Amino acid sequence: MIFVRENGRTIPKEDKIFGISNRAKEAIAKYGKDKVVNGTIGALMDDDGKLIVLKSVDKVFKTLTPDEYAPYAPIGGIPEFKEAIKKAAFGKYEPKGFTEVVATPGGTGGIRNTISNFSAPGDRVLVADWFWAPYRTIATEIGREIQTFKFFDEERKFNIEDFKANVLELLEAQDSLVIIINSPAHNPTGYSLSVADWRNIKAIFEKTPQNKHVALFCDVAYIDFAGDEEEYRQFLPVLDEMPENVLPVIGYSASKTFTMYGMRCGAMICIAKTPAIAVEFKSACEFSSRGSWSNCNRAPQTVIAKIFADPELKKMVDDERAEYRDMLIRRGRAFEAAAKECGLEMVPFDAGFFASMPMPNPDEVAAELEKENIFLVPLAKGIRASVASMSEENCKMVPARIKACMEKLAK
Ligand code: PLP
Repeated sequence: MIFVRENGRTIPKEDKIFGISNRAKEAIAKYGKDKVVNGTIGALMDDDGKLIVLKSVDKVFKTLTPDEYAPYAPIGGIPEFKEAIKKAAFGKYEPKGFTEVVATPGGTGGIRNTISNFSAPGDRVLVADWFWAPYRTIATEIGREIQTFKFFDEERKFNIEDFKANVLELLEAQDSLVIIINSPAHNPTGYSLSVADWRNIKAIFEKTPQNKHVALFCDVAYIDFAGDEEEYRQFLPVLDEMPENVLPVIGYSASKTFTMYGMRCGAMICIAKTPAIAVEFKSACEFSSRGSWSNCNRAPQTVIAKIFADPELKKMVDDERAEYRDMLIRRGRAFEAAAKECGLEMVPFDAGFFASMPMPNPDEVAAELEKENIFLVPLAKGIRASVASMSEENCKMVPARIKACMEKLAK
């Protein structure tokens, strides 16, 4: 670094995923799109590699008047959006706790505000050992670090014992703790915690020191693409029953649910035990917003408010999304079946945009696959394939190619 102070961050020359994605684009330009598999993208693409945008949502965007997009939005979000996004996040469930909403630029903003407000400089934030890399970027950017627990036990289930050990260790060392759990349809594995897993988590908190505060950030970025919307929201009542020293925060992203990735819209929603905790959440998080991105984009907030104000329109959006969600689920199932057939080990997978394969040499395997014009993302402990950005046909083909490259390199 020449002028830049690194301040505890590791700043790469190039974002790894965007780097691979650029090489995939170059290969497509050179060899044609039917000769290249781009399994790197974290957005839902059609079988021709084109970004899927919900037509019903697009239509609403086109109706916006200047008054509906040009003025600054209030820091915490426009009131109609705040009501709508609660419904989007909770579905039919009505929380018993006290909820407050703060608009954020995508789900990312909620992660940033949660870490900055519910941990102290130098603290460690607890995440699973398979995790979305920006968690670390966000944490180190504001002077925190990441600590990981083992996501899976030997039976390929949520590793509640290792989760517990890490929670106890960190609560001993710190006065407060932020935990991020990305479920359902976790990135990068596609795993979803069961309701029983959430109950086990609650049971742990019931026995931890009640004078230590825990912010439990539930990153539900993929909740509307996992399967039946209500079924995948069955864990929400467990959040409502957490002890008073645990504050559940839902990190909701409009990026995927409404195919609005570039509009940067999302929300953080607390489920607090008392009104005072909820009010404090709101004022602190709005303060952080003001001190980082100020207010959020008004246009997508207006669009979401309009969708929820019109039941017919809401149904159109839901129906359209359900079709693409089912397509995504078919791709995931096809990938799983093909992996099973060729004996490729996958990290426990349920649904969603991504699947991961554990291996000791992910960088080498990914480089080998690139020679075949298959672009996937090497992580610390394996390779991630985006089933969201591959056709069903490619989902059937890619596992055998991964397996073959692994075997070739093992020789
Ligand atoms: N959390 C996870 C695990 C993600 O993968 C993403 C997007 O890729 C997000 C949150 C939020 O993304 P955005 O800020 O684009 O809404």
